[in-house]
Amino acid sequence: MVVVGAGIAGVACAVELLRAGVAVQVRERGHVAGGRMASKRFEGRPADTGAAYFTVSDPDFAAVVEQWRAGGLVREWTDTFVAYDRDGRRDVPGPVRWAAPRGLRSLVEHLARELPVTVDRPVLTVEPGPAVDGQQCAAVALAMPGPQAALLLDPALAEATGVAQAQHWAPALAAVLDFPARRWPDFRGAFVNDHPVLNLVCDDGDRRGDAAPVLVAHTGPEFAAGHLAQPADAGPAIEDAVRDLLGLPEPARQVHVHRWTYAKPTAGSAGTHHLDSDGIGLAGDAFGKPRVQSAWRSGRDLGRALVARVS
Ligand SMILES: Cc1cc2nc3c(=O)[nH]c(=O)nc-3n(C[C@H](O)[C@H](O)[C@H](O)COP(=O)(O)OP(=O)(O)OC[C@H]3O[C@@H](n4cnc5c(N)ncnc54)[C@H](O)[C@@H]3O)c2cc1C
Repeated sequence: MVVVGAGIAGVACAVELLRAGVAVQVRERGHVAGGRMASKRFEGRPADTGAAYFTVSDPDFAAVVEQWRAGGLVREWTDTFVAYDRDGRRDVPGPVRWAAPRGLRSLVEHLARELPVTVDRPVLTVEPGPAVDGQQCAAVALAMPGPQAALLLDPALAEATGVAQAQHWAPALAAVLDFPARRWPDFRGAFVNDHPVLNLVCDDGDRRGDAAPVLVAHTGPEFAAGHLAQPADAGPAIEDAVRDLLGLPEPARQVHVHRWTYAKPTAGSAGTHHLDSDGIGLAGDAFGKPRVQSAWRSGRDLGRALVARVS
């Protein structure tokens, strides 16, 4: 079996196959596993540039998180964010948000530790058979946003193509802002409502637990859509918006902008995954809420369905 995509959904799918003794290969087009659970190092220090945190409500996912916690990979970060809107700033209690001191990508790498993952290996075509780049296999799992899966699928694979193309996705930009000092009012994460640029700002030093003067800001989809061609050009506007929001006197020393063309699904797919008679599986966070937990569950469920298919 071939799993395409080493985000948390693809890795969760492959773990189920491996556990059941089914031969599996995972192919990832990026240099590393993790997908949107992305962490990038700046002067040796990781900052989360994709998902900002994760929450837990599913007991099965909680068991995975417990293994990460026991291994020192995650910690409970906070259950209180603030919200900025027209009426000012207020506390917003919510579920516990979990953070990873070494970055969220470290969690996907931990799950994938026994898997044969080939990185820098983009898959170009999935054809009837099924065949992945011309290689026949028992089934293929495409664990990625629907528009990315649709690019690979031969139109003759009509059922999977239809499901993938029916999804709608919104973009986002994530900017890592490295300041000379921590001069902002105390907060963990801030929802920014009705703002032309921002929708979330997190204190990455607090999230990581090292008190570094680093903020990570996520933009709204409309602002991102206007900067997908040249995301770095959006850096000054994002920095100005963050400094204005938090009243920061000094400019950032460094701003890095990451583009997510397919950040979050706005119209997803039914069920927890797709698996059809052509042997094509689809998984990811579009099968549920756009969250780490949904992506994990989707991949896990597709893996179980594939095991049932071959046994
Ligand atoms: C800016 C942002 C903020 C977010 N905030 C949160 C949050 O706070 N809390 C939360 O729970 N979730 C959040 N999310 C969502 C969370 O990151 C996702 O739900 C989860 O990581 C999705 O995992 P996935 O495996 O489904 O997809 P992905 O992580 O996108 O994995 C897909 C993988 O497939 C690979 N791939 C694609 N095409 C090919 C190809 N042709 N060949 C080989 N490989 C390919 C990609 O490189 C990628 O590694 C956020 C996401 C973004 C972008």
